[in-house]
Amino acid sequence: MGAAIAAGGAATLLAYSVFYSGSQVFAPVIRRLCDHRAVALTFDDGPSPVFTPRVLEILAKHNAKGSFCLIGRNVLRHPALAARIVAEGHTVVNHSWDHDHNGIWRSRAYWTDQLEWTSRVIVDTTGKKPALFRAPMGFKTWPQSCAVKRAGLHYLAWRVRGWDTLNWAPETIVRIITSQLRGGDIVTLHDGLEPARRASSQERTVQALPRIIEAIQRRGWRCVTLEGNLPLAVYG
Ligand SMILES: [Zn+2]
Repeated sequence: MGAAIAAGGAATLLAYSVFYSGSQVFAPVIRRLCDHRAVALTFDDGPSPVFTPRVLEILAKHNAKGSFCLIGRNVLRHPALAARIVAEGHTVVNHSWDHDHNGIWRSRAYWTDQLEWTSRVIVDTTGKKPALFRAPMGFKTWPQSCAVKRAGLHYLAWRVRGWDTLNWAPETIVRIITSQLRGGDIVTLHDGLEPARRASSQERTVQALPRIIEAIQRRGWRCVTLEGNLPLAVYG
């Protein structure tokens, strides 16, 4: 009986460690900014030739900055877009090469390659070396965390998620985010498409984004990049 309870507890702890995006069991994870009068909007899975330019235009129009968690394969396909993200003053984050959902079963060597290839293509196309890694789906494992530390990267998670890859209406995405938003939050949205998926539309994200930014700015907060605004000294 005691052994069964202990096994159940260990399984629960392991599931929490791997699947909860904010778990710090394997390594420190950044979920909030140190500036509580700012919010960091992060955009995952790009760059996308359809949606990334529109996100960049909305950010520029609102005098807002963001952070883009880039998939290595997508940077290789759209290098000019990655360069434009940096040229316009936004942060770039390593989001793995393949964004493979089976990555949680893979070795440290696999993760070392995923991180290295992605950082290299980002440096080659933008001149900026990423300091942060966002794990695909936020899932972390021990071998992955060893590779992250070895690569000199830090985990970037989020506190608020827009669930914008689901088929919610733009108003619903706005409500999901604004109803739980606090100063200092890191918010996750999507501007791109995982390489293994054939079709996904971030049209709803693009439609929701101006209203999200306006709601943040109405509270007197700024939309900022991650550089200089993190609780850990990851940018030296
Ligand atoms: Zn992703």
